[in-house]
Amino acid sequence: MNANIYEIFNSVQGEGIYAGTRQVFVRFCGCQLRCEYCDTKDARHPADECRINERRIDNPLDVSVVINAINDLWTPSTRHISLTGGEPLLHHGFIKELASNISVPIYLETNAGFPKYARNVADVVDIAACDIKLPEHRSTDNYDHLLHAELETIEIFHSMDVETFVKIVVLMETTEESIKSAVSGIESIDESIPLILQPVTPTNIDIRKLLGLMDFAGAHLSDVRMIPQIHRMIRIP
Ligand code: SF4
Repeated sequence: MNANIYEIFNSVQGEGIYAGTRQVFVRFCGCQLRCEYCDTKDARHPADECRINERRIDNPLDVSVVINAINDLWTPSTRHISLTGGEPLLHHGFIKELASNISVPIYLETNAGFPKYARNVADVVDIAACDIKLPEHRSTDNYDHLLHAELETIEIFHSMDVETFVKIVVLMETTEESIKSAVSGIESIDESIPLILQPVTPTNIDIRKLLGLMDFAGAHLSDVRMIPQIHRMIRIP
């Protein structure tokens, strides 16, 4: 099986509860959404070539080529393969085959919009970092449908014992009202699922506002954290 992949590289995870962890990133091409804050716009469309350090390899890439690249990029402090994008779940069949040929933990970064595909890979994923988009992200024309799909995906991963956490990107326009449905949706699955509020980068959002959003969510959920993108602070990919 093969897939269109934008780049494969080794770096430090900059988001969520594993921020600071060394990972090999496999960035897949393609995404069904169009978030206003997207910082990987080039990976939303098919790429002619995949970048692996200084090398360029014609797309699509066979699973064996990706496994070789992961092995070449692995270092003693590396802990996971991060499947990212774009939207990696568009390549769920490829992910299944990749996972069955590799023994290191798999960390999935997903917009969570495809519950059917999530169910297909849940038995091979170790950690699921699931986004919940907000109306002000302008990711889709049908926000209610997307939110419903995201919550279903989170429930699937959580119920199948995948370590699952949720990330919400906070914009200047974000309010308690705009995160309310997401917070109550997570609470209805399990109030102990960690929620990361991630201020958009670069940010000049007032810290009092961020603390207020934390308290609003914290009244319903037991593990709410505010974590900015650390990889952007230290200027690494
Ligand atoms: S889901 Fe991710 S890759 Fe897709 S548009 Fe939004 S930020 Fe970009």
